[in-house]
Amino acid sequence: MTQSRDGGIDELKVAGLTIRGVARGGVETCLMVPELGVMFDVGMCPPGSLHFGTILVSHGHADHLGGIAYLLSQRQLMRLPPPRVHVPEAIVGPLRAILGAWGEIEGYGLGVELSGHAPGDRVELGRGLWAHARRTHHRVPSLAWLIERESQRLRPEFVGLPGPRIAELRRQGAEVSEAHRELVLCVTGDTQIDLLREDPEVAGARVLVHEVTSWDDRRDLATTRSWGHTHLDEMVANIDRFTGEALVLVHRSLRHRRADAERLVDERFPAAHRGKIHVFGR
Ligand SMILES: [Zn+2]
Repeated sequence: MTQSRDGGIDELKVAGLTIRGVARGGVETCLMVPELGVMFDVGMCPPGSLHFGTILVSHGHADHLGGIAYLLSQRQLMRLPPPRVHVPEAIVGPLRAILGAWGEIEGYGLGVELSGHAPGDRVELGRGLWAHARRTHHRVPSLAWLIERESQRLRPEFVGLPGPRIAELRRQGAEVSEAHRELVLCVTGDTQIDLLREDPEVAGARVLVHEVTSWDDRRDLATTRSWGHTHLDEMVANIDRFTGEALVLVHRSLRHRRADAERLVDERFPAAHRGKIHVFGR
């Protein structure tokens, strides 16, 4: 795992994935994962975001989606194809209205393939990847996006055989490999902790990107919940639900410095989990 920072962009390499982007609670959220060819939310269209043709949107608050018109306009100037933008179904109508009005201002239509989704929907992303939409708990309709990757792997009875022997078996027509599906990533967007209590698949994703907006009682637990967010106390109390390889904590309020959040991870979480927990965002 390495971590570096540049401008407003943070970057974390973990469990075979790069998480790159901006994650400032209430200010801007946009996370890019180049290995999967997917971007989560748009933020204000930070550097690098124009090149993602698939965008999975958690909800329509402006800090997560405010840059969409600019992104579409810039992509059009660069002659990039209309991106596929997947959003909660409740915001498709208002979003079309906004983008239509913006196209009128610009003098040309903004190209986009917009799809609305309900919890339970599955979106094929290509290259053996699927995105599952899951219901979250925020103040507006919102989705977590759970990414499943299918790959071929050797059937258990052939594991350990030398390569030439496996090749020979394959030539003889043996089915030496089988499809293997894995939940490689979940980005939960803005949500109360309840999502992790309800959904063991989300809580068990290999990399789980979850928000902790409040890190101390300058905004207490009840107030944090009333805004549809997660407080550190709740993440600590529910940490055993997380069973993956990496937990990436995002959307920290500007009230909390990164160094303080990192210290709190060391102080508050059990030793068995600490090495898997990453504070993300400048
Ligand atoms: Zn929000």
